[in-house]
Amino acid sequence: MIASNNNLHPLENIEDVEEFYERLDRSHLTKALSPERPYTYWTIELYDKKNGIRGGGGLGVLAADTRRVAERMNVPLTLITPFYPSEQHQICKTISGTNFNTSNADNTTNTNHAANTFHFENLTRSEKVDYNAYGFNFLDTVNIKCNNQITTLDVVEKQLGSTRIICITEPGFGELYSGDSGGDHRLYQEVALGFGGYQALKLAGLKPAIMQLNEVATFFAALARLDELASNGMDFYEAIVYTRKHTLYTNHTLVQAAEASFHYDQFERYVFPNLKSPAVKKWLSDKFDHGIIKLSTVTIEIAELRSGVSKLHARVANYHELSGKKVKFKAITNGIDIPTWTAARVIKYLHEQGIIDKFYLPSRSETNPIDNISADKIRELKLAGRKELNAILKNHVDQYGNRIEIPEDTLLFDFKRRFVDYKRPWLPFADLEKLKTILEKHNAHYILAGRVHEGDIRMFGRLKYILETIDRDKVLKSRVHYLPDYDEELGYALSVGSNASINTPIVGLEACGTSWMKDIINLGILISTHDGGVADCGPDNYLSISGNTEAEEVESLYVRMEEVANAWKNDFELEYIIKKELENFLPVISGTRMLKDYLDFLF
Ligand SMILES: *Cc1c(COP(=O)(O)O)cnc(C)c1O
Repeated sequence: MIASNNNLHPLENIEDVEEFYERLDRSHLTKALSPERPYTYWTIELYDKKNGIRGGGGLGVLAADTRRVAERMNVPLTLITPFYPSEQHQICKTISGTNFNTSNADNTTNTNHAANTFHFENLTRSEKVDYNAYGFNFLDTVNIKCNNQITTLDVVEKQLGSTRIICITEPGFGELYSGDSGGDHRLYQEVALGFGGYQALKLAGLKPAIMQLNEVATFFAALARLDELASNGMDFYEAIVYTRKHTLYTNHTLVQAAEASFHYDQFERYVFPNLKSPAVKKWLSDKFDHGIIKLSTVTIEIAELRSGVSKLHARVANYHELSGKKVKFKAITNGIDIPTWTAARVIKYLHEQGIIDKFYLPSRSETNPIDNISADKIRELKLAGRKELNAILKNHVDQYGNRIEIPEDTLLFDFKRRFVDYKRPWLPFADLEKLKTILEKHNAHYILAGRVHEGDIRMFGRLKYILETIDRDKVLKSRVHYLPDYDEELGYALSVGSNASINTPIVGLEACGTSWMKDIINLGILISTHDGGVADCGPDNYLSISGNTEAEEVESLYVRMEEVANAWKNDFELEYIIKKELENFLPVISGTRMLKDYLDFLF
């Protein structure tokens, strides 16, 4: 039976999931997977605040969506992740350096005020989180050996339809991504998830049919399995072959060299004490190179199945086995759980039109139902989306601590994603005069949302500079808004309420990205560089930013922003763009398609 907590379902309950299994052409799938022998999904990050766990970005959102889709499709899936006892929030303190004289309203390029009084602080605040408040049940405890002592971890569990979330946790576990990526605490968290999580699985009476490792931080789970097999009488080579055949490594990174590494003495303190099999210990020791081990390297060795998260990413990710052989990644493009990220009225409309079916897959139909989409309907749905956005904005403040509202008759662009270098949040600010002209001419607003990683001094500087620039300029100050503490709620609200979103990763550096999928499914226009999952389809299926240099890309971006403004005034243009986006990207966006691809690949 399908999940009971399906209050999110705008459609009827999916009763006939058999049809989904039939579409997989794998009748034996139901034999491979069962409640006691589930698909296991390992992740250091889960972004699922409804279930108490706040993530950092796309990696966690993907994990949460994968589980939600599995729940809808009645697939037995167990997700194993830490429950972090505290989470970080961003707070901004900004003191304006500029006091515009409102009676002098024509002076729009006012820059002569005392900008040196501008003050900006990017602060973090930790909040305690209690698993009891989110419906988790305490199962028991498990022990791991770390740093010459025994650490006891609580195992807590929550059943959600055919899926479960199993967490390991203890009061000193710390926050997501706390400390250095190669530091002791991070290693402790990863070892706790792997060795602790593997024991937790057994406590819950589960045997993994398959282990999907969402990035290399989960390597120790596969290692724990290898160790169990090899120390329970199986020949080491059989054990490694068996583990490899049942482990999928999903890679989200591009360059192997960029990944974290650990020292031998760290493994002596945190990893080796948890291994029972001398053969496994030897195998792992041999993977060190000059006293250093890369988790990516050993993850490749322990997982025969490997996937990348978009067509482009799977092609360009440059990884090698220890033998020197280049790793081939199977491309399984990320998808989103459509009901989670789409306004219910939009889903209802897409469903009524026969554009998506009950599985949230594109309908298989002779006629092309997307052709019936009308500009009037797009505008109607977007207006309702704007109202919803404004309602949600009541729970948020801008960089000055003020509440904002985006007038219903204005055009809204957004940039919403983590503030990391390669995503280039500053790009739209490269030519301020052009940006201002577009915003004023078309009565448009621009919302920026995204957290800077703690300790990323460079990006903090970039953000501060953007905010100072906004502060100094009257037009920008009234039309550009920064929303700190970006989270799922804002991600959803902006997708639903903006007219166009801007996605500017340096081409080749975005593994997939999923924010843009939320924009397309909510009938927004996508302006993007041709990268990540966006590049699964050709560049003429959305408003692509092109150029051989950054300056050319900036130029192209402004041209696209003008096009968006004009399209929203022209029925034909608007219909053309939205139809094209849906026609080409709907199969990519669908999380059901993603899950189907994984099941096809694995079983
Ligand atoms: C969708 C979403 C993401 C995904 O971001 P990408 O940059 O597209 O990978 C990250 N954070 C939040 C809060 C989201 O809602």
